[in-house]
Amino acid sequence: MRIAMIGTGYVGLVSGACFSEFGVHVTCVDKDAGKIERLHKGEIPIYEPGLDKLVEQNVKAGRLTFTTDLKAAVAEADCVFIAVGTPSRRGDGHADLSYVYAAAKEIAESLTGYTVVVTKSTVPVGTGRAVEKIIRETRPDAEFDVVSNPEFLREGSAINDFMRPDRVVIGARTDAAKEVMKQLYRPLYLIETPIVFTTVETSELIKYAANTFLAAKITFINEIADLCEKLGTDVHDVAKGIGLDGRIGKKFLHAGPGYGGSCFPKDTLALVRTAQEAGAPLRIIETVVDINDKRKRAMADKIIAACGGSVQGKTIAILGLTFKPNTDDMRDSPSLDIVPALIDAGATVKAYDPEGAHEAQKLLSGITYGNSTYEVMEGADALVLITEWNEFRALDFNKVKSLLKSPILVDLRNVYEPETMAKAGIHYTGVGRPSIA
Ligand code: NAD
Repeated sequence: MRIAMIGTGYVGLVSGACFSEFGVHVTCVDKDAGKIERLHKGEIPIYEPGLDKLVEQNVKAGRLTFTTDLKAAVAEADCVFIAVGTPSRRGDGHADLSYVYAAAKEIAESLTGYTVVVTKSTVPVGTGRAVEKIIRETRPDAEFDVVSNPEFLREGSAINDFMRPDRVVIGARTDAAKEVMKQLYRPLYLIETPIVFTTVETSELIKYAANTFLAAKITFINEIADLCEKLGTDVHDVAKGIGLDGRIGKKFLHAGPGYGGSCFPKDTLALVRTAQEAGAPLRIIETVVDINDKRKRAMADKIIAACGGSVQGKTIAILGLTFKPNTDDMRDSPSLDIVPALIDAGATVKAYDPEGAHEAQKLLSGITYGNSTYEVMEGADALVLITEWNEFRALDFNKVKSLLKSPILVDLRNVYEPETMAKAGIHYTGVGRPSIA
């Protein structure tokens, strides 16, 4: 079995490396020549724990290669995955499918023999059909099937998520295509991974329904957190108290600054648009999108309030810029709303992120980037924790106090306990937790 993976980003590179670990020959293709050049040199263009070793091992074993030559990779493949980006289209929030369609056309021109073309990118219902049409029109003689196989991995734990998924979803029209997909995912049968076979369209919708449900769950607990702040109750205990109910579940009940990242913001918007056009608007998700947008900006007001109502002329030290720990991905990170709002309010911002600074520098200007956790605190008027990287979870508060001008901590991830902070002499503001003087 030979695979061509079109798009060597967070999903393509991880999926390609994992399939090669399963023993399949994988060629990862990208049109970004710089990315492929780095991979040839043994460098990993993204930060994802464990990926460097997995790639190195499989390159050495001769099962994983990288190229910009899509034609050659597709010509020899039994199965071609489309794992290119599907960002929000400017203006209307629809998924921008131009990369998917361009890849489909290029793939069509290069097909030889029966090939299964799989959309792994997150794509709206009907995209599989459109890909099929593009290929048929470009190459009426081609023998192929189009399959939908959405990806559920999370950045930061992507390898484990791919190797031990809760389920695999496959939308296929023919037995031949199903057979190829079964063969590919055979190693997961050993760990009894449920495989959901369905139609291409249903599979496409499953991915959006999953992501929008999770976004709604996060938004629910964020609103409960706001209510807790008014009532003097503790969202942490509320989340525990409801999460232990098996019907609700513990995960995605952490109150915070609002969801971000490369998937939830764009996927919620895209499903809202699909639903409106289908005449079955998802009002709950429309509201989730609106609440989350406003929430990110409201976090800057929370910081300003913790600083006594103004940050004019003050220096704010920030820990963590990425949308979550263990990734360098900055796409739609809450920090992209919070930091500019603080600067607009007159603050000077010094920030440190263990892996995200390189990406952050492209998106956030006018701030100073520090090289370590404590360096950014020196002389700052307040400390703000935006992303809960492990190295921020056990700060030495004597040192923190000695470095800050005033002992103010705004903890947007509820890493610390209000009681412990009060004892340590820190003026602590969490999310949905009572302040203890
Ligand atoms: P990404 O931007 O990291 O990578 C996409 C890559 O595709 C880029 O390197 C780009 O150069 C390349 N590319 C674009 N057009 C190409 C072409 N015609 N030929 C070759 N290469 C091409 O994107 P990503 O985060 O990996 O996401 C890919 C898809 O997977 C999206 O639809 C996303 O919604 C979905 N997804 C992402 C995640 C995640 O955590 N990032 C999780 C699940 C699903």
